Amino acid sequence: MERNSAIETIVEDPVLETSLRPTSFAQYIGQEKIIQNLEVLIQAAKEREETIDHLLFYGAPGLGKTSLAFIIAHEMNVNIKVTSGPAIERPGDLAAILTNLQENDILFIDEIHRLSRSVEEVLYPSMEDFKLDIIIGKGPSARSIRLDIPHFTLIGATTKAGMLSSPLRDRFGYVAKLAFYTHEELMEILHHSAQKLNFKLDKNAALELAKRSRGTPRITLRLLKRVRDWVQVKKAPSATKEIVDETLLALGIDHLGLDDTDKKLLHMIIDKFAGGPVGLDTMAASTSEDPNTIEDVFEPYLLQLGLIERTPRGRVATVNAYKHLNIPYKEKTIASQPSLFENIK
Ligand code: ADP
Repeated sequence: MERNSAIETIVEDPVLETSLRPTSFAQYIGQEKIIQNLEVLIQAAKEREETIDHLLFYGAPGLGKTSLAFIIAHEMNVNIKVTSGPAIERPGDLAAILTNLQENDILFIDEIHRLSRSVEEVLYPSMEDFKLDIIIGKGPSARSIRLDIPHFTLIGATTKAGMLSSPLRDRFGYVAKLAFYTHEELMEILHHSAQKLNFKLDKNAALELAKRSRGTPRITLRLLKRVRDWVQVKKAPSATKEIVDETLLALGIDHLGLDDTDKKLLHMIIDKFAGGPVGLDTMAASTSEDPNTIEDVFEPYLLQLGLIERTPRGRVATVNAYKHLNIPYKEKTIASQPSLFENIK
């Protein structure tokens, strides 16, 4: 799948991303309620000398789910093994992972909503009783054996909690929904990261970057890196608001943080479908974007800004979207179905 948007979900610079990743709760900014719950959970588990309960984190890409899993492993002083839903294709793959765990290890499964049903079924008894059911042989002679596996903690991350089957969701001891970050929180992340990257970021520059980062730390860090490039090339003593404006203009990111793909989506709903409603698959086909990317990456922020709305018949552009794109809004633009009553008249 090709993604050429400035807010793609893939990690483009793993070394830098790792070096900026918070390594303790103290360095992890925001999401206070979740941190408070996790700290209690960890302390209680440590006191009882047990593994912590299985945890599920959900929220948009780049909000800090993986970082939390790594911090928990660090605080618990245990190993963390990382995999993802699509990587575990067959029950045998999961069996191999589980039997290779050590006592108290954390198993982090990203995109856990993409596990197949047959893999999920192997996961249930392992999460609940730390047992693995293996079927040996085929047909009438097949028999099932039960193996003990080490006590482990499963940490699942997903962008779509609704897509998890309820038996799987019910087996997590704590489910946390990560929220988008406020401008103040993003500014704090920016200041810490600029310090680590050894360059000066003015307060106004940080605020401007925060405003245009879609409430997401990963995006704010990516933009910060681009600003750092500009500061370096221009031999400026520090990153100013003007440099931020220049950088983001060159990247095609507007004052709300929308990039070319967001605007393409809004224009498509307004220009081609008279403001909507338009279904996800049609949106994907008309813009050559992947439907999952639209749903996970672009839509949540457009919904949050109130630029689109989700209706049972599809996505609709709001008056705010027209205003933002400078398109005159006509009252009847949103295609409304004539009512049955009107047809009869
Ligand atoms: P996710 O797993 O939700 O996609 P990550 O945990 O990979 O997100 O976070 C992306 C990057 O954003 C991390 O490398 C980290 O540097 C930064 N980050 C995320 N959340 C925070 C936070 N609360 N405080 C500081 N940095 C954060």
